[in-house]
Amino acid sequence: MTSYRELGLEPIINACGTVTRLGGAPMPPQVLDAFAAAALEWVPLEQLQAAASRRIAETTGTQAGLVTAGAAAALTLGTAAILTGHDPGRMEQLPQADGFPNQIIIAREQRSGYDHAIRAAGARLVEVGFNEIVSNAGVRRTEVWEYEAAINAQTAGIAYVLGEGSSPSLEDVVALAHRHDLPVLVDAAGELPPRENLQRIPATGADLVAFSGGKAIRGPQSTGILCGTRELISAAALQMLDMDDHWELWDPPADLIDRSQLPGLPRHGIGRALKVSKEEIIALLTALELFASGAYDSDVPRLRSYLETIVSQLQDTAAVCTMIEPSSPDRWPLLEIHLADERIDRDAFEVCRSLRTGSPPVYVGHGKLRHGILIVNPLCLTNDDVLRLAARLHAELQP
Ligand SMILES: *Cc1c(COP(=O)(O)O)cnc(C)c1O
Repeated sequence: MTSYRELGLEPIINACGTVTRLGGAPMPPQVLDAFAAAALEWVPLEQLQAAASRRIAETTGTQAGLVTAGAAAALTLGTAAILTGHDPGRMEQLPQADGFPNQIIIAREQRSGYDHAIRAAGARLVEVGFNEIVSNAGVRRTEVWEYEAAINAQTAGIAYVLGEGSSPSLEDVVALAHRHDLPVLVDAAGELPPRENLQRIPATGADLVAFSGGKAIRGPQSTGILCGTRELISAAALQMLDMDDHWELWDPPADLIDRSQLPGLPRHGIGRALKVSKEEIIALLTALELFASGAYDSDVPRLRSYLETIVSQLQDTAAVCTMIEPSSPDRWPLLEIHLADERIDRDAFEVCRSLRTGSPPVYVGHGKLRHGILIVNPLCLTNDDVLRLAARLHAELQP
């Protein structure tokens, strides 16, 4: 059997959380068992996606859903659905979207590298608003009227990236969009937990919502969820599923794909490159069920105890440890390690580099290095990791 070690790779201690760069979330044993069992039998993928759609719809309070190849793939597919509807000529044309409405409005302050996934479908992003607080030039952020002013005959929809403090509120943007008969696509990739967000975000009326499957849901890192209206999910499924069949025989489940809206069988769509395997679909649904039922809550005390162990092991170092308490009961604390003490003559970047390159390699959260802070996210740590992690931190943080 091929292993990381056989390939010359030393497995790391992941104190960084479910980041894609380091391989995503820890999959629970039930998820791995479901993956392995699903590999032993075969089912038609469109029937499997239709069954997944029912399960996702029930869990999220939406009409329909799709298991995608990550939240980024969900953004591409959601955009494709918004651009084409059930028009197979438009589907065939993507990502070239001239000749029909192809503009997606987005707040300038919500742009990021992830919106490449929206542009990949062929949409042209139209930026609106400013965050004058960040630019130190004022007190206001993007406002609803700015979205409205950008709407024209070429507007296809609005993209919204949900995060702590996103502004204006998603509810207000949805209300505006719906006044103009436009759909809203929400990037909520990392907005779980709290698990209530599975329903709370779609309940805003947003037409399509993208979640990551490989973050806190703890499914395969290459999975995601797109959920929303039956019409748009149907258009997304059509552009993702393999279309190599005969129109005479093709019989997709009507609650996922409405064949009656089509003049014929579309060819492979833009999402054919974003396929998901039967094993990944089953594993994601298993993980989603665990996540939504609260089965992960019992992990929180274990994760907290890891951080407490690390704090106690670092007491005689020159670092200052601060526990960052979670914002909801199904989240876990994080540990911030401040290198404020001038007895440590290296900056946080050097410590971080040295942690990565030593043995075992240690990857800590690097979002606050410029403030001299290392972050320990315990989600991907195991019992075996904790003392080894504490030892490596201890050695690096000597005065
Ligand atoms: C993680 C993330 C994504 C990408 O999700 P994947 O499931 O890795 O494709 C997109 N947008 C935001 C805001 C994210 O945090």
